Amino acid sequence: MTETKDQFSLKRFWNLLVDYLKPQKGRVFLLVFLALFSIGLQLLNPQIIRLFLDSVEARSGLDQLLNTALLFTGVALLSQVIQLVVTLFGEIVAWTATNNLRADLALHCLNLDMTFHKKHKPGELIERVDGDVTQLANFFSQLVIKLGGNLLLVVGVIVLLFLQNRMLGFSIVVIALIGLIVLNWFNKRTVPRWQAVRETEAKLFGFLEEWLNGTEEIQSSGAKPYIMLRLYHSLRDRWQKILSAMRIQVFVADLPIGIFAFAYIAAYILGATLFQDGAISIGELYIIIYYIGIMEGPLWEILRQIEDLQRAAASVNRISELLNERSSLQDGPGFSFPGGPLKVLFDDVSFHYEDDLDTRVLKNLNFALKPGTVLGLLGRTGSGKSTVTKLLFRFHDPTSGAIRIGRSNGTGDELKDIRQARRSDLRQRIGMVTQDVQIFQATLRQNLTLFDDAIKDANIMEVIKDVGLTDWYEKLPHGLDTKLEAGGSGLSAGEAQLLAFGRVFLNSPGLVVLDEASSRLDPATENRIEKAVDKLLANRTGIIIAHRLATVQRADEIMILEDGQIVEYGRREELANDPDSHFYKLLQTGLEEALV
Ligand code: ATP
Ligand code: MG
Repeated sequence: MTETKDQFSLKRFWNLLVDYLKPQKGRVFLLVFLALFSIGLQLLNPQIIRLFLDSVEARSGLDQLLNTALLFTGVALLSQVIQLVVTLFGEIVAWTATNNLRADLALHCLNLDMTFHKKHKPGELIERVDGDVTQLANFFSQLVIKLGGNLLLVVGVIVLLFLQNRMLGFSIVVIALIGLIVLNWFNKRTVPRWQAVRETEAKLFGFLEEWLNGTEEIQSSGAKPYIMLRLYHSLRDRWQKILSAMRIQVFVADLPIGIFAFAYIAAYILGATLFQDGAISIGELYIIIYYIGIMEGPLWEILRQIEDLQRAAASVNRISELLNERSSLQDGPGFSFPGGPLKVLFDDVSFHYEDDLDTRVLKNLNFALKPGTVLGLLGRTGSGKSTVTKLLFRFHDPTSGAIRIGRSNGTGDELKDIRQARRSDLRQRIGMVTQDVQIFQATLRQNLTLFDDAIKDANIMEVIKDVGLTDWYEKLPHGLDTKLEAGGSGLSAGEAQLLAFGRVFLNSPGLVVLDEASSRLDPATENRIEKAVDKLLANRTGIIIAHRLATVQRADEIMILEDGQIVEYGRREELANDPDSHFYKLLQTGLEEALV
């Protein structure tokens, strides 16, 4: 992937163009047609003036002069109208294409695994999904068409000059070729520099996002000087990268002035000589100078477009890079999950996070959970409890071993590796409430159903009652349509937990994973949560990571993790009565104190 990173890849451009312009074929053809038409008009215009001048020289009648003048005005007006239509359709094509691309990129990012998301901060992703794509707007709508059009115009002028006088045409071609070669040399060196600019910008945005998220901590910890220093470094870095790109850009921008001067000199000398020799008329002399003048506009535009193209190339490369990111977790072929409580089997499961190759977070976990049992998972902070739940949910896959899930029937177990499942099915059948509950900026209904419109209001109301949020609900101004604040700023920690329980209820999963928040709640809320957990676990298999004694007492089995290893596993009642067990000691010390 990286070997082509810095290069200008025609194939990538082409693929993007095809993918996003194909659905708008009609509009694109119209744009191409209009572009060609307006080139025709531009080439035609001087011919009309030549006609005018030659008629003056030949002393033709006033009528003919008037007609030529009218024709000239008509053509000029038509050009303007075409320009207007091209701009309008260009914008439509560009917005449609870029918005589709934005949507595709966003969806792609949503499908990528947690390892990817840990590496790439949200700010950086915003910069890629929006910033890079914005750079492409012009590219999609007009760049290619205009670039092609302008090149065609220049070629057209050269051909016309050739027809007028070979020597003249030849000199202009030689001058243009030399110019192109030099330009190309500079261009090759600008793409990587612009790409570096975009990369530092993405990093800068990543940093800004992190910083804005942590405003409270930064203010209270006095980290402001550090943040400002980092901001200063990032800004300086970006400035230096832009400077380095601009240094070459300046040459690219100034080159055409030189080329142009040479072309004019050639035209004046040759044209004047030819006119003096009587080889061309005054109209023809005019047309030669005019055509060279016509080239000036397109040449300048071509340059600006090449600059745009370079920026676009940097963005295209980064977008392709993002699109080439593959989730290390692929959906399995899928299988039908049995209804009712699920059986869970950890078969020699070991795991390490990608960047910690030598420290295994989980080491050879082996355990089986019968359908309907509740397992209390205990252990100090960092012992790997949350990691166990992340594996169950397939945020990551085990490095070795397998997690199987299914149901035991009369004849034996019918268990399937969860890697065989589709992740969406898995997440339907496993309900999870994590340590920090995500509340979306959306209505209460959407927050509970997670945007699934198929769920009926009656069900939602029942769930609200089940989790004990009725009193809270009745105070809401617009009922289910009340908008909640992102991050749950209008909710207490307990209410947010209860809402998360509600989400799980609505799916009615066969396995519930509860990663209890370690923050302490007031007794009344705790009481409500206890009741809700009772209902949640009824006739379901459960894994609860408990920080409070009350929650632990609900478990049938207890497993204690230390450093990713099981140090104790057994029935709760037995362990609680065995003075030699870790669990017994934990209970003696007090869970809350022992598990920090
Ligand atoms: P707590 O009681 O504080 O919630 P825990 O038992 O849930 O702790 P885990 O979150 O499973 O602990 O973390 C286990 C180990 O894995 C820790 O050492 C932690 O630093 C590490 N770890 C957790 N998440 C990641 C991650 N995304 N990347 C790398 N290491 C991680
Ligand atoms: Mg945890």
